[in-house]
Amino acid sequence: MNIRYNKENSIAYFDNNYNLVMTNFDCQESQFILDDKNNTCRFCGKTKNEVTFSNKCHAIPELLGNKKIITNNECDICNHYYGDTIESDLGKFTSPLRTLDHIKGKNKIPKYRDVKNPRNTAEFLNGTLYVQNRNMLTVDQENKRLCFNLKTEKCIPINVYKSLVRIALNCMPKEYFDKFDNIKWLKSDETIELNKMYTNIFFKIIPNIPQMFNIFLFIRKNEVQNIPYCQMVLISNNLFFQVIIPFLNEDKILSDVVEIAECNFGLKDEKEHYTNIINLSSKKNTYISLAINTNYKKIENFK
Ligand SMILES: [Zn+2]
Repeated sequence: MNIRYNKENSIAYFDNNYNLVMTNFDCQESQFILDDKNNTCRFCGKTKNEVTFSNKCHAIPELLGNKKIITNNECDICNHYYGDTIESDLGKFTSPLRTLDHIKGKNKIPKYRDVKNPRNTAEFLNGTLYVQNRNMLTVDQENKRLCFNLKTEKCIPINVYKSLVRIALNCMPKEYFDKFDNIKWLKSDETIELNKMYTNIFFKIIPNIPQMFNIFLFIRKNEVQNIPYCQMVLISNNLFFQVIIPFLNEDKILSDVVEIAECNFGLKDEKEHYTNIINLSSKKNTYISLAINTNYKKIENFK
């Protein structure tokens, strides 16, 4: 199965094909709690009689900047398990992105260090990004755009993908979660071959939007065929991810080529946003090269 990317009609693609089932956590509240009210863990199926639910469990990892969105639907055992495994790969993958986007996780904004030459660093201090070596950047001064050529920390790509799927599952209304038929894959090293279509993600940095934290879940309309059943868009500050969520049964009907469009709602000038499409199917611990394009207001001491 392959993907054909629709680059033209993002709004029509999502309008025609999907229902938006969740958006806008109320940021005015100090906490937003997701709760199925049946005291059952979504990931192991165990109840309050069998396992504890005493941790404050972030539905979206704290390392992405989430302090408020909490779930009561993940038990302490599953929470620890994910924290020690796939979530740490998500942390390694997003570390340079969080530097650029100045996202404060549990502790502070990570400092970027080049793998080959650790003296090449990038660091966000007092609203300014300090970059040690100009070779890390390609700068287009006329259009005020730059491209960072970075490498992630060593991480397992499939675990990064699983972490993103887990976020969708945590935040999904129960009626859709109940259709998800792939929990075993999420939690084990078992090789359940996923189609590579699923593990292609879009991500980018969107400059100049208000600081926001949002998740959008798109569920395929009943009458529509041949597009994935579920897609998630996660926006954390200026960081954007678009991920297909693998509902194996619902996606059985898909033919050899499916169409995906990048979600670009609300973004004023599409040309300003350069999107990376990256495949996260590999199980090998590896550095991933990223080319992150963004614009800038002012650049100083550029030699
Ligand atoms: Zn559990």
